[in-house]
Amino acid sequence: MESLTVMATGMTTLSLKKYRRIAVKVGSALLVDRSKGLKRDWLASLADDIGALTEGGAEMLVVSSGAIALGRTILGLGRKALKLEESQAAAAVGQIALAGAWSDALGSHGLKSGQILLTLGDTEERRRYLNARATISTLLKMKAVPVINENDTVATSEIRYGDNDRLAARVATMMGADLLVLLSDIDGLYTAPPALDPKATFIPLVARITPDIEAMAGAAASELSRGGMRTKLDAGKIATAAGTAMIITAGTRQSPLMAIERGERATLFKPSNHPVKGYKTWIAGQLEPAGRLTVDEGAVKALLSGKSLLPAGVKLVSGNFARGDTVAILSPDGREIARGLVAYDAADAVRIAGLKTAEIEAVLGYEARSAMIHRDDLVVSDVDA
Ligand code: GLU
Repeated sequence: MESLTVMATGMTTLSLKKYRRIAVKVGSALLVDRSKGLKRDWLASLADDIGALTEGGAEMLVVSSGAIALGRTILGLGRKALKLEESQAAAAVGQIALAGAWSDALGSHGLKSGQILLTLGDTEERRRYLNARATISTLLKMKAVPVINENDTVATSEIRYGDNDRLAARVATMMGADLLVLLSDIDGLYTAPPALDPKATFIPLVARITPDIEAMAGAAASELSRGGMRTKLDAGKIATAAGTAMIITAGTRQSPLMAIERGERATLFKPSNHPVKGYKTWIAGQLEPAGRLTVDEGAVKALLSGKSLLPAGVKLVSGNFARGDTVAILSPDGREIARGLVAYDAADAVRIAGLKTAEIEAVLGYEARSAMIHRDDLVVSDVDA
């Protein structure tokens, strides 16, 4: 199964060799030094790793942060807090340098690269998702390494991913990668944030991201990265649900991917045994559901056995969603158990919640579909605990 062996020393070795399509996410703090700018030697060592894995037959994708951090250094903005338009401007300056640096570093291994800048709608809207996927697939076919970042120059808070961990998970699952590696300033998951709790212990393998695992993340983020452990676990949920394994390891050492092969510390998150596929991957990974439907126990049972969600089982409707939006389905105790594309807008959903199918037409004044969410448009969360 997973090429994971626990050795006598308690050290864990993992191999990247069995993975055929690997997305690597690189955090800003790894690539950019506040005073000196781009860390070229480190980037060259990562490019060596990418070259070696490509040589071994893997297709590689890079999700690189660092545009804003690099732009700050180039523009001499120091550490001051930036206004939105200043960080957008910094990203514009930084991204051009970042893309050039990647192109040079990969180019020295004979690899071509292509820049892809995404905004949230590019993965959240179905048509744009398919379009982005087609472009990235074509790059891979042409043997060019996609180098991806958020389009920070136009993204404002409501329409941004905000962190590249979730962006990377969305891209990895969109592209059917079998592995996502998050290179970070921490070498894996600990029982608590080690900076806050010296007794925190390292966790080499996560079979499933449970609420207990989520509680280990704390809220801390490092100075340059937006993410922290919380967004890494969010990324893990998106990835593993779609059948993509995830590794968190330190990017602070040279050749950080080959370091995993050498047995340096890394946490592996196993992919689900029942991954969602195709169209349902897009639904399951939606970053911000537009609303929430709380359902009764009967509906929970029906959903777990693969049925559609009927209005009769819906207790509470919240959010201002339109027909076709993604909504989260919550159990009576408030846990998210499924996601799906809702067949009614919020106002009609409120009017028919709790009603039997036969009663709906009289309330709405038109012959309605029987399901609130049809099972074809519904993804139940991973329940193979
Ligand atoms: N997209 C941002 C940048 O390139 C980074 C976001 C993050 O650190 O997660 O500067």
